Amino acid sequence: MVGWFQKPFINPVVSLIDTFQKIAETKNYATSVKLAQNDEFGVLYEHFNSMLVEIKERDERLLHLASTDSLTGLSNRHYAMEMMHTLVAKALRHKGFLSVIMLDIDHFKMINDTYGHIAGDEVLRVIAKLIVECAREYDVVARVGGEEFLIVCDGCDQHALSVIAERIRSRVEATKIYYETALISVTISVGGYVHVPTSNNIEPLLKIADDALYEAKTLGRNCVVLKGSACA
Ligand code: GH3
Ligand code: MG
Ligand code: MG
Repeated sequence: MVGWFQKPFINPVVSLIDTFQKIAETKNYATSVKLAQNDEFGVLYEHFNSMLVEIKERDERLLHLASTDSLTGLSNRHYAMEMMHTLVAKALRHKGFLSVIMLDIDHFKMINDTYGHIAGDEVLRVIAKLIVECAREYDVVARVGGEEFLIVCDGCDQHALSVIAERIRSRVEATKIYYETALISVTISVGGYVHVPTSNNIEPLLKIADDALYEAKTLGRNCVVLKGSACA
């Protein structure tokens, strides 16, 4: 019944519909359709494939924009919270550590007031880069507030967390930030919580790290305070 036009006409259309359906179900645009024909169907397939590439690239750009802090290039709060939910579930499964560090630049308002807001922005960028350099490659480093940063350290015990926290604090203290003719020195206060999750609620984790940070501020700033059952 279908006869001679089955191969050149019906097959390419059926295959295209099939791909449309698969993409609609999976939302996976990282695919392409293949056709060894040099006719109008070949051209149609080519256009379809370039449209898929454009959609995939646009999705990646949107995802990057939605998860990144534009000033520092770090993850933003939203992305960090999503990652924490994933990591807390993993830690629960493995009964492993999920520790966090919260840090905040000391007297940052004064830096803005003294050197200007643009210099303050440069300080934020430099500190962000230092934190990434001092954290482990697989830690999640995020800017979660104006001059406040969060580091989520999967599988990190008390010793490892204190090494990371102190490494960041001392590196920031030792760094001079150049802005135009000014040489700016900054310090940070650091709070950390060493934790083996027993629930998937991330709020207490963040709250205790935040309390530790507050304690570091009240102790005179430029210091590290760690909390957790194994910490003093
Ligand atoms: P503390 O040591 O207690 O943390 O004091 P602080 O001055 O750092 O804290 P405070 O909360 O009083 O001031 C934070 C300042 O950070 C105020 C705000 O204008 C500034 N800030 C927030 N976001 C940005 C930003 O994106 N760029 C710049 N340059 N400044 C920012
Ligand atoms: Mg501050
Ligand atoms: Mg602050």
